[in-house]
Amino acid sequence: QAQEAEPANWPQIASPDALTDAETEAMITRLIARMSLEEKIGQMIQADIASIVPEDLRRYPLGSVLAGGSSAPLGKPDRSPGRDWADTAMAFERVAMEQRQGHVAIPLLFGVDAVHGNNNIVGATLFPHNIGLGAARDPDLIRRIGLATAREAAAAGVNWTFAPTVAVPQDDRWGRTYEGYSEDPAIVRAYAGEMTRGLQGEPGEGTIQDGYIAGSAKHFLGDGGTTGGIDQGDNAATEQELVDIHAAGYPPAIEAGIMSIMASFNSWRGRKMHGNESLLTDVLKERMGFDGFVVGDWNGHAQIEGCTATDCPQTFIAGLDMAMAPDSWKGLFDTNLAHARAGTIPMERVDDAVRRILRVKAGLGLFDAARPWTNRDGVIGSAEHRAIAREAVRKSLVLLKNDGVLPLKADANLLVAGPAADDIGLQSGGWTLSWQGDGNTNADFPNGQSIFSGIQEAVSAAGGSATLSTDGSFTRRPDAAIVVFGEEPYAEMRGDVRTLEFQAGDKQALALLQTLKAQGIPTVSVFLSGRPLWVNPELNRSDAFVAAWLPGSEGGGIADVLIADAEGAPRHDFTGRLSFSWPKTAGQFTLNAGDADYDPLFPLGYGLSYASPGSVPQLAEVAGVDASLANTSLFFARGRVPAPFAWEEGSAAARSPVDGPQTQEGAVRLSWPAGTEATARIAGPDLDLTRETNAKVLLQIEYRVAQPASGPVTMSLGSGTIDASALFGAAGEWRTVRVPLEC
Ligand code: BGC
Repeated sequence: QAQEAEPANWPQIASPDALTDAETEAMITRLIARMSLEEKIGQMIQADIASIVPEDLRRYPLGSVLAGGSSAPLGKPDRSPGRDWADTAMAFERVAMEQRQGHVAIPLLFGVDAVHGNNNIVGATLFPHNIGLGAARDPDLIRRIGLATAREAAAAGVNWTFAPTVAVPQDDRWGRTYEGYSEDPAIVRAYAGEMTRGLQGEPGEGTIQDGYIAGSAKHFLGDGGTTGGIDQGDNAATEQELVDIHAAGYPPAIEAGIMSIMASFNSWRGRKMHGNESLLTDVLKERMGFDGFVVGDWNGHAQIEGCTATDCPQTFIAGLDMAMAPDSWKGLFDTNLAHARAGTIPMERVDDAVRRILRVKAGLGLFDAARPWTNRDGVIGSAEHRAIAREAVRKSLVLLKNDGVLPLKADANLLVAGPAADDIGLQSGGWTLSWQGDGNTNADFPNGQSIFSGIQEAVSAAGGSATLSTDGSFTRRPDAAIVVFGEEPYAEMRGDVRTLEFQAGDKQALALLQTLKAQGIPTVSVFLSGRPLWVNPELNRSDAFVAAWLPGSEGGGIADVLIADAEGAPRHDFTGRLSFSWPKTAGQFTLNAGDADYDPLFPLGYGLSYASPGSVPQLAEVAGVDASLANTSLFFARGRVPAPFAWEEGSAAARSPVDGPQTQEGAVRLSWPAGTEATARIAGPDLDLTRETNAKVLLQIEYRVAQPASGPVTMSLGSGTIDASALFGAAGEWRTVRVPLEC
């Protein structure tokens, strides 16, 4: 049952920092009076750079262009990429600003996901992802990172970032856990305003001319609290939990003058946020006094019941001001025009949305001449910014175990092993040069440093040595080993998992630790991950264990803390403290401080240091939860299933028609009764099912049951559900269903 929010239950912000003044409002009033309906409707739409060319803006005067995670303007940019980006942004800007008869020139917002530095650009400074910053517990550092990020974005022609993420992840199976600062709303609250001030400058003061950009707090609301940690899923929290937990970051961001807020893909109690008028309008804009604009997420409006990507008056009526319509902008422009003419979208709503967008453009100084920050040399990857990132890496490290092996002597002979030892791509995780952050090599980070390289630098200066050996083999026995391993990069729904067991089914890192232990070599584990994971077997085989999260491009920050000075004294102590509770079993998915049955391995706030050492007893090595599933969801977030559609079993003719909504974007969900051991995976076409465009494919789902179902098995797509029991074969046998999909 969809639920309405009751505005009176929400914090009222006494003095939201006004983004505007009387003079600006008067200027905007004059501008709106001169704008044609087409120009107004255009402001309310954002297109992705992969589907628009500058010339299109003549006919469709859009308000914004984005370069989404997987749509770098020029593919993987070359060695002077800041300029490529700036040139691309400026090419759009030039057309937008051309003066024509009866045309009002309005500057463009050019938006990107600069979420850990301007992570879209080769050579940019990459800061630790938010989970590591949460461990650093340093709001001033957050503000400095925000400023450095703004400058590296502005230098590349960008004036808007979709950050900060102020999600408060409550289920670590969620693939976006690392984008959140903490499970603890207090930490998110302390950071949200500082990141906003860093990116945007002091409320009402920062302009693009001074190297500031607009921020976007996201995703409003409840992204971190979906049932099962399913990305884009349903949040079933009570309204009070929304207020106390998930909304924590918004009041401080609004007080700091946040210019935009992004609506979330998730629903709250059955209603998609993109269509939730009580939360977007009554709570956010009226009660909390937010006077910037609400931007949608990637075709997020299409997930509202009754909407498609190109037709959705509901979202604008609910309070969305600008739709992110990456590839659907043209169709949406035409239908919005018709809806505004017919009054389906009231003209007051159109004018209010346009006013909010122009307010941000004016506040950011976009109407004023010259952008001195664009194409500025030496900003991207500057020594000053890299020093801040390295400081952040040092402060983000959480020491979970130290049986006395750390700090390592600077003149030691060290073996540096593990798959992530010399790999800046693995250090940086998702949202790095591409959406998923996969496929990057050290050559893609000309200004970065791997963890191995940082260690080598530290020891070779003091007469020691470091030998790289990813598989752990050596010829000369080392004094100690550092093993660097962890999760492979992922982003969004691709990172959703069903168990917190690290590398369930793939025990490569464990085997490496086992081999070193058997030889009696003191071993330090450096664990790279986007969430706390069950690593008891790895902890047991390590003499010291450091949670390093996703540190980004400055791997040298790790050596700063691990390797002592020439006298054997630490150069930097560990100061990081867990901002997420660490699980004792692989089944503690929703493990949050304050739970009635709270029983973590390491609690929120835990972290050893050289000043206060500690050990860890031998830990149980049974994962506590099987990797097999009771339920699973397979996502194809940006695909659409044409109606009517049928499930096709294998290549046989057996079809099970589904009466569902006309088109569905979201998830195929397979459910089977508890107790059934079943597993499923997307197989078949080697396609990016989440961002592919204009392709017709058969989405192929493979599944099997280890133990036959004792009740009905269902498959659902949106609200269309079928009893799929007949599609299941004998235990252990892989079966296939195919669903036709248009991307
Ligand atoms: C994500 C947003 C992001 C947007 C643009 C979406 O899929 O949910 O966080 O800002 O893409 O890349």
